[in-house]
Amino acid sequence: MTDLTSLGVKDIRDGVARGDFTAREVAEAFNAAVAEAAALNAFILTTPDHALAAAEKVDAARAAGKPLGKMAGVPIGMKDLFATHGVETTAASHILEGFTPRYESSVSQKLWDAGAGMLGKLNLDQFAMGSSNETSYFGNVTSPWRKAGSNAAMSPGGSSGGSSAAVAARIAPAATGTDTGGSIRQPAAFTGICGIKPTYGRCSRWGIIAFASSLDQAGPMARSVADCAIMLGAMAGFDPKDATSLDMPVPDWEGQLTSDLRGKKIGIPREYRMEGTDPAILEAWEKGKEWLQDAGAQIVDVSLPHTKYALPAYYIIAPAEASSNLARYDGVRYGLRELPQGAGLQEMYAATRAAGFGDEVKRRILIGTYVLSAGFYDAYYTQAQKVRALVARDFARAFEECDAILAPTTPTASFPLGSMNEDPLTMYLNDVFAVPASLAGLPAMSVPAMLNPEGLPLGLQIVGRPFDEQTVLDAGLAIEERAGFAARPEKWW
Ligand code: GLN
Repeated sequence: MTDLTSLGVKDIRDGVARGDFTAREVAEAFNAAVAEAAALNAFILTTPDHALAAAEKVDAARAAGKPLGKMAGVPIGMKDLFATHGVETTAASHILEGFTPRYESSVSQKLWDAGAGMLGKLNLDQFAMGSSNETSYFGNVTSPWRKAGSNAAMSPGGSSGGSSAAVAARIAPAATGTDTGGSIRQPAAFTGICGIKPTYGRCSRWGIIAFASSLDQAGPMARSVADCAIMLGAMAGFDPKDATSLDMPVPDWEGQLTSDLRGKKIGIPREYRMEGTDPAILEAWEKGKEWLQDAGAQIVDVSLPHTKYALPAYYIIAPAEASSNLARYDGVRYGLRELPQGAGLQEMYAATRAAGFGDEVKRRILIGTYVLSAGFYDAYYTQAQKVRALVARDFARAFEECDAILAPTTPTASFPLGSMNEDPLTMYLNDVFAVPASLAGLPAMSVPAMLNPEGLPLGLQIVGRPFDEQTVLDAGLAIEERAGFAARPEKWW
């Protein structure tokens, strides 16, 4: 019998529908794989019973001849930023430890309605702030990948590093991620998997713990482009509970998926040729151009002149919004409460926040509060908003000349855990290619391209016009078919 844990979303769903195996067998296989992989620290909490119960419902529906959902029989990992009813939800922060929501996020509810089950809550950078999965209160996530000839623990990327590690290690066929400034795409690139951040507003933010509300978007992480198309179809859709939700029909991305790019123009942004980019990444980018050309696309040069200002603007806007969003964690309503002897209300707030938030979260709150303060608001926040508008305008102009943009996902491959701790700025630089599409609210995907000379995965990024996830997925498929990326990490865990 096939090893069920080697299967992805489509193969599991279709196999269950055909009766090749039961959803219960699939859930059991993944529950066992999750239990064996504790060394990765990918999960904060495992929920094997949730996965089994969902599987039994699917098996019963199939036996009764009822129609099956888009994700029927597929057990997935849920980033612990999505509120799950009756299941502890922490955002990987001490301040939310013990918080058990009385509601289900809209996106996770849609996935359960489509027949998926939950293997557990995935580890992440605390409040999704980070690029390496080292800011979690529950410990680092370790990538299943290692450099050739080395046992050093590598970063799975962040903030969706539990998601990327679990999918790459084949202890989950797919996982949810969220992307504020690259947190789906960068970890996908670091671990040799696919991940798409859809257009801002496609997936409801309701019930997702907020980081920077004008940027946060949920999306799928899986090992193939088709699997991402399927899962995105199950996650997306209008939600009246989210004021920024897009009231538009959800296209049949899976059904329309094609790698025939004839008639499409792909733009290569010249400003993305940055100093410090790993030569292996530039080589992957060249290959990417050839692959897309081979699929029928025409390659054109485009310019995104404000690219270099995007990252500084992001690191003003995101902390500003975070400082406001995180003000609700005060020891009164959720999770942790620190109440020193004789403390009044203000002291209780201060003690709870001091003990509950990690260093990176505190850094962001300080930056955010500073840039929003009366004396500095115009100098920082208003300026950053202007830059954001210019970055969006760059893309709008580029899309007059092309249908999608091809760029690297990250300037380097994964790095060893701990190697960047002293230098938050270098860490922030990791998002340099990911952040512009976030500021502009555009759909963007990372697909694996090749291994670098050290045996680590490298990803390519495709950015599309607003609402045009289809072209992004199609170009992703064209790359996937030609890259033939079949490498997988050797099991050491
Ligand atoms: N690494 C970026 C940050 O730390 C992006 C995080 C994200 O997209 N959630 O803000």
